[in-house]
Amino acid sequence: MVRVAVVGGGITGLSAAWFLNGRADVTLFEADSRAGGKIRTEHFAGRRVEAGPDAFLARVPHARDLAVAAGLGDTLVAPATSDAYIWAAGALRPFPKGSVLGAPTDVRALRRSGLVTAAGALRAALDLVLPRTTVEPDIGVGRLVAARYGKQVRDHLVDPLLGGIHTGPADRLSAAATAPQLMTAARANRSLIRGLQKTTPAPTGAPVFLTVSGGLGTLVDALAATVADLRTGTSVTSLARDGAGWRVDDERFDAVIVTTPSYATASILRASAPRTADALAAIEYASIALTLMSYPADAIARPLDGSGFVVARDSGLHMTACSWASSKWAHVAGGDVVLRVSAGRWGEERVLDRSDGDLVALLHDELQQTMDVRGTPSATRVVRWPRSFPQQTVGHLDRVAELERSLTAEAPGVVVAGAAYRGLGLPACIAQAEAAVSRVLADLATTPN
Ligand SMILES: Cc1cc2nc3c(=O)[nH]c(=O)nc-3n(C[C@H](O)[C@H](O)[C@H](O)COP(=O)(O)OP(=O)(O)OC[C@H]3O[C@@H](n4cnc5c(N)ncnc54)[C@H](O)[C@@H]3O)c2cc1C
Repeated sequence: MVRVAVVGGGITGLSAAWFLNGRADVTLFEADSRAGGKIRTEHFAGRRVEAGPDAFLARVPHARDLAVAAGLGDTLVAPATSDAYIWAAGALRPFPKGSVLGAPTDVRALRRSGLVTAAGALRAALDLVLPRTTVEPDIGVGRLVAARYGKQVRDHLVDPLLGGIHTGPADRLSAAATAPQLMTAARANRSLIRGLQKTTPAPTGAPVFLTVSGGLGTLVDALAATVADLRTGTSVTSLARDGAGWRVDDERFDAVIVTTPSYATASILRASAPRTADALAAIEYASIALTLMSYPADAIARPLDGSGFVVARDSGLHMTACSWASSKWAHVAGGDVVLRVSAGRWGEERVLDRSDGDLVALLHDELQQTMDVRGTPSATRVVRWPRSFPQQTVGHLDRVAELERSLTAEAPGVVVAGAAYRGLGLPACIAQAEAAVSRVLADLATTPN
């Protein structure tokens, strides 16, 4: 059997090892003492609470199918509510129904939400009559949205939601990479509202998001248990060519799948693929801190009737989002209220220089302001995620295609996959792992050893 090394034991590397099972001898190298990467389920306030991702998109099959195949199908659960709020113009305002990545399809619902002024709603309605917007091969999501709906929709809906997912400003985000639905609808139609109305499937009642009730850490454990040779605490520093194969940590492999963050991948490939390493090093990252905070239920005056809220950038707050974890998930409910509060985004990372204590105090103040929190938290934990969100800026997918071509030329038998390339959500990482495995096995089948 061929030998394949997988570098990095986040969801991409674990999935790659999973898809290789039975088809290759796999060794997985993970620098940290535990596998999982950004997936991290903590014991907090007597429950299992996510300090990294807390759900995956269920409209695409990859994550759900993997969880089922790993034996966790019975534990898949949907959020208790899909209602959410946006903090903008000094209040928590319900997210208008029928929007796609924040882009509204119902101007009346937009007007009622209070997220835009009367003039802002009129400007959004102009989308219906304005001439078509020219969409180049790629365009900033913020630019596209502002051209169609005006700046208020960009700043109070799309930037907090989509910018929140990617922790970067909507103006910089590539529409092709992060909002292909908007780009396709804008290309095919004069009006984005009409285009989205046509292309957005009617709600089926099926959950949009899912997670596993024991926490995503149980998915990590299930996948890790199937890796025969899992070497945690082993940081890979470089790859060296060895005939048609590669040496990793002084052992020979027929092929290597590198799933580390792109800046780490750049340094691993610096000697063997210098041009690709430059392209990898150029991918920017944003840092955030996620703070878990619990409060006695009677310390919060407002009803927690939703999954939480995102924060508009022009609100003057430091927090960027607050997930009401104990309302969002039945398996986190009971006893004290548990909140997951995010701070930091691309270009606004100075807040992360604060000590844990200062950060908690600042976020507590902002929770008082936004949610009418009284009293003091019963428990807090700050989890820092430095350089954790790759920024898929305009032109990202073309640059990824180019770096993949240059890697094939400089280091045949080595492929990269993971959050920095073709989508950062869990399903996208799993899909990339599966594609990387197919690619490696197909190449090995045609390359004489
Ligand atoms: C706070 C937070 C919330 C998120 N929420 C969601 C969500 O709700 N839903 C969703 O779908 N996505 C979410 N994401 C995004 C998603 O979690 C990540 O994009 C994804 O988990 C990244 O997986 P990965 O395997 O590509 O990389 P990583 O998880 O970063 O794994 C890379 C691994 O490589 C290891 N490594 C680094 N250098 C070396 C080396 N030299 N040698 C060996 N190993 C090395 C690291 O230790 C790490 O384990 C969130 C991310 C964060 C940070």
